[in-house]
Amino acid sequence: EIILPESEKVTYQAKSQPRASGPSESHEFQAETRQLLNIVAKSLYSEKEVFIRELISNASDAIEKMRFMTRSGQTLSGADRPLEIRIDTDKVGRTITIHDSGLGMTKEEMMTNLGTIARSGSKAFIQEMSEKNQTVDSKEIIGQFGVGFYSAFMVSDKIEVFSQSSLPDQPAHHWESDGSGTYTIREAQNVSEGTKIVIHLKPDCAEFADETNVREIVKKYSSFVGSDLILNGTKA
Ligand code: ADP
Ligand code: MG
Repeated sequence: EIILPESEKVTYQAKSQPRASGPSESHEFQAETRQLLNIVAKSLYSEKEVFIRELISNASDAIEKMRFMTRSGQTLSGADRPLEIRIDTDKVGRTITIHDSGLGMTKEEMMTNLGTIARSGSKAFIQEMSEKNQTVDSKEIIGQFGVGFYSAFMVSDKIEVFSQSSLPDQPAHHWESDGSGTYTIREAQNVSEGTKIVIHLKPDCAEFADETNVREIVKKYSSFVGSDLILNGTKA
């Protein structure tokens, strides 16, 4: 790991706004994922703010992967960028956006990682429950296993993911889903290396577009993250 002196650190400058273009492909989620999304979307779980922890944790993992790949001498694009996590809230647009300059994902990685449940614990639990024809308690599933990325569908009716892999010669992609059965994926332009996740908040979850509220939440997690966390341009 190369540690830059504080004075040489520059806040990561994004290129102009990323945008999706080209033909859009529609895909179905894996059956267990659909079941999980159903549970999450209907969840009355009161601690909805955990989605922020989950997204920060994924962003941090992606940055750690980038550090690891850099150290192991891989050829990577944009390898000298500052590694940081930016969170931006927009009250008017009712969105919260989390942006990391980590490793990013290829198209295949977006399809696999965002379309299937990797966590073996929650997958087995959902399978067992559906085989027994039992209703799954959302509190149990969220509390016991955590639902990672999908927890954002507790507060969101549309999620957009822009990702630019740092592996050489990989086009950027835009992934979008309303959390029902399908997602779309298409190429994207102007995406900086890393991943940008735009959470379009449900009308009754507007509190997560409020900077003061989000700062309080982010503070709880920032000490566990090995990278800078920047909320609306200021260190969190
Ligand atoms: P977990 O973190 O336990 O693997 P998640 O549901 O939180 O499960 O995330 C699923 C996968 O999606 C991650 O393992 C990772 O491969 C991918 N992913 C999610 N967010 C990001 C991100 N910001 N950058 C790169 N990959 C990501
Ligand atoms: Mg995770």
